[in-house]
Amino acid sequence: MFIPVNEPCLEGNEIKYLTECIQTGWISSEGPYVTQFEQLFAQRMGRKYGIAVSNGSVALDAAVVALGLEKGDEVIMPAFTIISCAAAIVRAGAVPVLVDSEPDTWNMDVSQIEAKITPRTRAIMVVHIYGLPVDMDPVLELAHKYGLKVIEDAAEMHGQTYKGRPCGSLGDISTFSFYPNKHITTGEGGMILTDDEQLAERCRSLRNLCFQPGRRFVHEELGWNFRLTNLQAAMGVAQLERLDEFVARKREIGSRYTALLSGQKSLQIPMESTPYSRNIYWVFGLVLGPEVPFDAMEAMKRLGEAGVGTRPFFWCMHEQPVFQKMGLFVGEHYPVAENMARRGFYVPSGLGLNLDLIPEICSKVKLILSQS
Ligand SMILES: *Cc1c(COP(=O)(O)O)cnc(C)c1O
Repeated sequence: MFIPVNEPCLEGNEIKYLTECIQTGWISSEGPYVTQFEQLFAQRMGRKYGIAVSNGSVALDAAVVALGLEKGDEVIMPAFTIISCAAAIVRAGAVPVLVDSEPDTWNMDVSQIEAKITPRTRAIMVVHIYGLPVDMDPVLELAHKYGLKVIEDAAEMHGQTYKGRPCGSLGDISTFSFYPNKHITTGEGGMILTDDEQLAERCRSLRNLCFQPGRRFVHEELGWNFRLTNLQAAMGVAQLERLDEFVARKREIGSRYTALLSGQKSLQIPMESTPYSRNIYWVFGLVLGPEVPFDAMEAMKRLGEAGVGTRPFFWCMHEQPVFQKMGLFVGEHYPVAENMARRGFYVPSGLGLNLDLIPEICSKVKLILSQS
């Protein structure tokens, strides 16, 4: 039997609400679940406005354009994250400027931000990685001091808090994803949150092709079709009802893995907590220690052969061929992020995981480590 890296949990009101969509014929983005989901989600994260979009990547695209970032503007962001973050900046004509990661939390090292600020810097894009939030207060202080906007990518942080404040409430504009491996899912989906009415209006317009209130089909600006369907929003409402339960389950998964793997000297496992938060384990990541004679790809191959699904960690932005071809990040190095990208991977940690399989997964991890 193969243990997949992620299985979602869909046994709440999903079927009931989806059936209602089909019975009433409301399947497009015009249906009532979309606004309901936006309002409930924004409320849960302590924000005024929610704008539902078709995924977490386009949420970033819309956020960057809504903030008015332009050609040559610089945005400071982590080297270690998903391509969506840098892609949104580059597509808007702006320039991503990278900082390295902290070796223990795997988040961007906020102490490196100030040295990267120039007269062209317009924003800081923070990305909370794998389950622990970025240390936000120093970021918010810098943003205030230098007049920068903060874009918060909270795609892995549904239900997480930073010093008691909800993740997703900490940026001028914050984004989420509802891909099936996130804490709540709509299949594909995303959300933009803000307290700024004008930014919210901009995002709504960008999501909907920048249709104008006057004559439909006459456009002053180019937008996109980034709309979420009523079917997806119906799932979102059902999933949101269970968010606390899902976060508790993720923490249970994390604590079971921690109990069984914390003795492994050659393996770095996620920190359980920091002074500002407790891990919610979007994924349970492992980083091979320097004494292990093989890298993450080899470990994943061996675990796959033993019936355990895994995924590699992100690959650094400065090492992306697509950005190198554009002449970005020439000669730059971020050693902590580079090491994580080469030696990190994650084990099955989705909400649908049968917890009784965790001891078996851990035995197999220990076995492949012993077979160096
Ligand atoms: C998943 C994820 C995204 C992208 O979301 P999609 O819905 O898959 O487009 C963006 N940022 C981070 C940090 C993510 O984990």
